Amino acid sequence: MVKSSELKGRYKVVIMGSGPAGLTAGLYTARANLEPIVFEGIEAGGQLTLTTDVENYPGFPDGVQGPELIDNMRKQAEKFGAKCVLAQVNSVDLTQRPFKVVAGEVVIEADTFIIASGASAKLLGLESEKHLLGHGVSTCATCDGFFFKDRELVVVGGGDTAIEEGIFLTKFASGLSIIHRRDKLRASKVLQERAFKNPKIKFLWDTVVREVIGDAEKGVTGVKIENVKTGETTIKVCQGLFIAIGHNPNTEILKGQVEMNDNGYIITRDGATRTNIPGVFAAGDVQDHIYRQAITAAGSGCMAGMDAERFLEEHS
Ligand code: NAP
Repeated sequence: MVKSSELKGRYKVVIMGSGPAGLTAGLYTARANLEPIVFEGIEAGGQLTLTTDVENYPGFPDGVQGPELIDNMRKQAEKFGAKCVLAQVNSVDLTQRPFKVVAGEVVIEADTFIIASGASAKLLGLESEKHLLGHGVSTCATCDGFFFKDRELVVVGGGDTAIEEGIFLTKFASGLSIIHRRDKLRASKVLQERAFKNPKIKFLWDTVVREVIGDAEKGVTGVKIENVKTGETTIKVCQGLFIAIGHNPNTEILKGQVEMNDNGYIITRDGATRTNIPGVFAAGDVQDHIYRQAITAAGSGCMAGMDAERFLEEHS
């Protein structure tokens, strides 16, 4: 790990973000002798550090802990010369090359810039939910559904993600309730109809979660819920809580500089990681609201590393 105060001057590759996308871009560009700088950001390691068992990352037949997987990726990138810096990029100037990257007091220049700052799952904002993340509270059904075989589950949200994840989770759950704060779903009609027809899914309308009950050892045992119309509070017994109320791509500091869609996700083009700015690439969840998997993020991090390398060859 390198201190940001040790950085100065101009670098060939600067990467913002240290989840699977950023670290894989770091690994590839390090192995190409480009000595990349990887700014780890405030959520160093990204969403994998908020989870426990990861069983769907290829190469680990017995599964691996999320934080351990990230540690290994970091070590592997550093072994080939990537410099990981425990600091957050506060601003960038991408109007001309070399780009300007500011992290605290430090200002450096970058010939290429890889955006891998990910997306953060929105949470309900409850203390209890934070304590139980990875212990019965999850923000990813694809990642964690398998751990909840024959369990009673609750999904919060009324958009496409909540309904899609709810339907997916019925493969494992004994029963499942979708809790929505209004009495109408935002999800597409086709998904709604599928969910309404599913005998395992129950809807709790006009309802919000006030507290998650459980502890890190036993996991989740229930949720305290409130009907916002009647004010009635009850306990819903469940062993898993999936929060599916959307994600925020971490693109705040890039607004007005890099092309994004209406939800703030970076737009990449031609099936590659190129953005609208030559020399700026994007990888991982910051440009993908569909797959959002560690393996797809790592895959696109590899692509961004190779795209940056090719760009440098063409512009040297
Ligand atoms: P979303 O469409 O923004 O829906 C978020 C849902 O969570 C809404 O129902 C919202 O309630 C609820 N919510 C937000 N904050 C909440 C809070 N603090 N407490 C309780 N509930 C809260 O997000 P998304 O479902 O993740 O979808 C994101 C985008 O990806 C959408 O454009 C979606 O169409 C797309 N997507 C598409 C597919 C697909 O096509 N198969 C699958 C997944 C996602 P309100 O309704 O009351 O606002």
